[in-house]
Amino acid sequence: MNAPASPVILCVAITGSVPRKSDNPAVPITVAEQIDSTQAAFEAGAAIVHCHVRTDDGTPTSDPNRFARLMEGIARHCPGMIVQLSTGGRSGAGRERGGMIPLRPDMCSLAVGSNNFPTRVYENPPDLVHWLAGEMTAHGVVPEIECFDLSHLWQAHALWREGRLPTTPAGIDAGRPPYCQFVLGVRNALPADRHVFDSLRAAHRHLFGAQAPWCAAGIGRHQIEVNEWAIAAGGHARTGLEDNVRLDRDRLAPSNASLVLRATRIAGQLGRPVASPSQARAILGLRPA
Ligand code: MG
Repeated sequence: MNAPASPVILCVAITGSVPRKSDNPAVPITVAEQIDSTQAAFEAGAAIVHCHVRTDDGTPTSDPNRFARLMEGIARHCPGMIVQLSTGGRSGAGRERGGMIPLRPDMCSLAVGSNNFPTRVYENPPDLVHWLAGEMTAHGVVPEIECFDLSHLWQAHALWREGRLPTTPAGIDAGRPPYCQFVLGVRNALPADRHVFDSLRAAHRHLFGAQAPWCAAGIGRHQIEVNEWAIAAGGHARTGLEDNVRLDRDRLAPSNASLVLRATRIAGQLGRPVASPSQARAILGLRPA
């Protein structure tokens, strides 16, 4: 008998900083829309919600008050769901990017190095990375490391070895390696190429061991193939309108939930159950809801 397949954690990235209503009217912009969209994605099987906030006209912001309202609504409508707030650099500059960390969400994203984006440099200088990691440590927030380059895995490893990463809430298994996400298909960064994916996995295993959980995200039309690669390889998967607004070439995705359902179907075809929020918390070493 084969061992039972390990559950796959599905993360839904609901909004991001880039897509607009003009790209897909289903992109949730206001906090009320974000809460509704998250609830539907939660009911479809997402255990983690990755959040950015916008002003009502759609402009990216890092406003902690908006993040606080969003967290309240998600806690009310999606019991146990893991909330991950973005500290990404498209929503603010410098330490403004970490102004929501004191809200103590379960997780925040953390970019650990710089790279090119389609039309700009994605700047993550070491002093800012250290400050963001220190804020997460101070507030007991677990980071998800965003890997836009192979070198980012080594930078994450150095931070971890130096004890700068709060890998899990204080007192629980302090040696746990950080949760890393490979981001594939951003123009001018890592392509959604199978060799790149395999190289990242090999490097991740080399640095953090075979048991360390990891996730992958594909941008645009690459979302579906990267979902397939990650789920088939035993990793976790991210979907959602932040990364991709289409179901296929001809159709816009009608909702975040539709993309989550697509990922649950892939998991079913590949024989992996979808992790409940409490299973996902156990896998990631997060505090119980
Ligand atoms: Mg993001």
